[in-house]
Amino acid sequence: MTLLSFEDARRLVEEHATKLSPPAKESCELLAAAGRVLAEDVFADRDLPPFPRSTRDGYAVRSDDLAKLPATLDVIGEIKAGERSEKIPKTIDPGKTVSIMTGAPVPSGANSVVMVEYSTHHDNRVEITRSTTPGENIVPRGVEAKQGSRLLERGIRLNQAAIAVAASVGKSRLQVYVGPRVAVLSTGDEIVDVETAPGPTQIRNSNSYSLAVQVSRAGGEPLLLPIAPDEPHRLKELIEEGLESDLLLMTGGVSMGRYDLVEQVLAELHAEFFFTGAKIQPGKPVVFGRCENPHLWQHRPEVGHPASAGERPASGKTYFFGLPGNPVSTMVTFELFARPVIEALSGQLARKLAFLHAKLKSDIRVKPGLRRFLPAILSGEFDETEVELVAWQGSGDMAATARANCYVVIPPDRERIAAGEWAAVMMQ
Ligand code: AMP
Ligand code: MG
Repeated sequence: MTLLSFEDARRLVEEHATKLSPPAKESCELLAAAGRVLAEDVFADRDLPPFPRSTRDGYAVRSDDLAKLPATLDVIGEIKAGERSEKIPKTIDPGKTVSIMTGAPVPSGANSVVMVEYSTHHDNRVEITRSTTPGENIVPRGVEAKQGSRLLERGIRLNQAAIAVAASVGKSRLQVYVGPRVAVLSTGDEIVDVETAPGPTQIRNSNSYSLAVQVSRAGGEPLLLPIAPDEPHRLKELIEEGLESDLLLMTGGVSMGRYDLVEQVLAELHAEFFFTGAKIQPGKPVVFGRCENPHLWQHRPEVGHPASAGERPASGKTYFFGLPGNPVSTMVTFELFARPVIEALSGQLARKLAFLHAKLKSDIRVKPGLRRFLPAILSGEFDETEVELVAWQGSGDMAATARANCYVVIPPDRERIAAGEWAAVMMQ
């Protein structure tokens, strides 16, 4: 058994993830692209802003005209946002001003905008009671971006700000990556499907569902395989089927029990194992590896999944994770290890796992030696963010995780973290 520290295991996964080549692309309508991964760079089609923009309602002035206060200026016109170019004065001469609105272009000659609050308008004249510095309340043309400069980088996940940027440069469609197909295989003689009434010693399959949600949220397309029994022949068939996808996630059957057959079957398929355990809790028996599937090349590309053979990982092998079957272990090990691989397979830029910090509400005591990820609730208001563990019965207790919204992360060298200390937090 190759048991790695959490950090070594995570870095190893990240290293493999960087070698994965980008998947296929498709064109997508702007709003439908929200949450997808951008497959092209997006550039400014003109300077941003395209004209010197007033950020206030007020008067466009020459700042020298306000050297002595109060100053009285001739109002030669009004410029509203979207004003037609021919209605904008060519220049503002000394002693003159125009009334100007937020978002309107500042005419040449004027070098600042004084807010309407500091003015009194009578007839065609305005009295101004406050001086300005050159540039005040004006965003000069092109300071946000020059025409042709890159605004969005290929590989980002498109959030509302990125969609807004795309809209602002006229992209009504975007190139996005097609999510990788991720096979999900639950194993265990006791596991029955959600539709089946479980016998007294049977358990309904919940892991395939938590994993499907996590896969989608990471940018992949889950493919739920039938439940595999703890019997090597059928298990092997289903693992082979799973290896035809871009990634295979298995749950259960990776512990030390006599019927934990996943590793054995993978070894028969000549899999490479990178680790077969990580010093974490929950989730210690997690397995990461790679395996060739004899049918792989014949089966691709498939209808409805435009990834072509040339876009497979260079090795022609499929990565897999054997995740421990306890429902909380499955969810935690997915977040820690499977997510970066799915992100890479969906074309996303690599990102390190960083924890937030919040003040602990009550003491935590644990046995040292493992890095722990314990279900917790982040709460509080404004600057007072607090975190507290939820009561739980161990890594089988998915209901506790459903009550939680994060995990408190405890380093392996700590036995106690006291109330009031800052604790590391990983969001769920
Ligand atoms: P295993 O890792 O196979 O030893 O399973 C550990 C525990 O997780 C056992 O109590 C299993 O019944 C439970 N378990 C395994 N797979 C699933 C699943 N797909 N859904 C819900 N519970 C599961
Ligand atoms: Mg099992």
